[in-house]
Amino acid sequence: MDKNLFSDRVGRISPSATLEMTSKAADLKRLNKPVYNMSVGEPDFPTPENIQKAGIFAIQNGITKYTPGSGTHELKKAIQDKLIRDNSLNYDINQIVVSCGGKHSLYNACQVLFQQDDEVIIFSPYWVSFPDFISVTGAKPIVVKTNQNQQYEPDFEDLKNKITSKTKGLIINSPSNPTGGVWGEDAVLKTLNICKHYNLWVFSDECYEQLTYSSPFRSIASLTANNNKIITFQSCSKTYAMTGWRIGYLAGDKHLVKAVGKLQGQSTSCPNSIAQHAAIEALIGNQSSIKKMRAIFQKRRDLIIQLINKIPNINCDIPNGAFYVFVDFNNYLKSKTALGEQIQTSNDLCLHLLSETGVVSVSGESFGAPGYIRFSYATSDETINKAMILLKNTLGKLIF
Ligand code: PLP
Repeated sequence: MDKNLFSDRVGRISPSATLEMTSKAADLKRLNKPVYNMSVGEPDFPTPENIQKAGIFAIQNGITKYTPGSGTHELKKAIQDKLIRDNSLNYDINQIVVSCGGKHSLYNACQVLFQQDDEVIIFSPYWVSFPDFISVTGAKPIVVKTNQNQQYEPDFEDLKNKITSKTKGLIINSPSNPTGGVWGEDAVLKTLNICKHYNLWVFSDECYEQLTYSSPFRSIASLTANNNKIITFQSCSKTYAMTGWRIGYLAGDKHLVKAVGKLQGQSTSCPNSIAQHAAIEALIGNQSSIKKMRAIFQKRRDLIIQLINKIPNINCDIPNGAFYVFVDFNNYLKSKTALGEQIQTSNDLCLHLLSETGVVSVSGESFGAPGYIRFSYATSDETINKAMILLKNTLGKLIF
């Protein structure tokens, strides 16, 4: 194919690795092979019934038309109330945009803020989409190291060294995908002080805000009075098992919000009207489903960590949030399979595990962390138990 056919812009992004593994799992399933899917990035629970009912009500009562491009007033009001209730954050209605998922909000904010010659800091291991959100704008993602043994908090020396006159912003994602790490307040405040000193925009991707297991989550913008350059991103996806409904939002500076609204108005138009109506029920209706789901995730986290710790020569500290464990497999690299195939990278190991056992995982390369593999525990205890036994057996057969 003519390589000039498509714009440079699209050449700067790569396909999502997690979605790629999901489609490999679907291929195996179609062939009737056993699949233990530990790659999923979404709760395995159904959307709570009260939210389903609100969606049905919307369909049956004509809430099926275009809404304002940046979301309905009613939903923005619900978001405003939710941000006060859960996060001690006070935003005006004109400081809120509703988008088609948190991903869309993040993408749009990058589009309106960043361009060629800008640099934007992300922390490794990072969510696969962050580098692409940045590069598609023409800006450059700059990767800063973190401390594996400390919930993947920043390596502050590295952070300071990487800030230049071109640095325009920084993206924090705590609780984190892929590590499950939750930064402590000291680390957040230290990062915010640095950002304030260099006048940087701070993106706080809080889509796993309700999934913390050792202490309640505190929204980053609520930790400082100087929060006018902090943009808070949240989503209904993980909190309310609503990944397919596609409702997320951002809250922050009103000028930025206006610019995002303009961009959205000329691209997707409004988010789905039915999903917006259901999201009101999600955000201000009965919240008991969150507690139930969180308790189940915490049990599964404890289970998977207990099983992983029984496997020789791998490393994984207890993650305090989200529904992922990010495991260090460096000790298994440079081994060979029984058939003599070389396992050089964690990607080789992931593919070997998949073809030998049907266990689907995501290798660390796409998160900027070669040697590691991400397992999602948003799946049944049965799958977790079986997958970890298969993992142990597969590793046990590798030859050094
Ligand atoms: N941010 C992180 C870190 C994620 O893991 C995801 C989804 O996997 C999102 C944002 C976006 O979620 P959504 O667009 O469904 O709100």
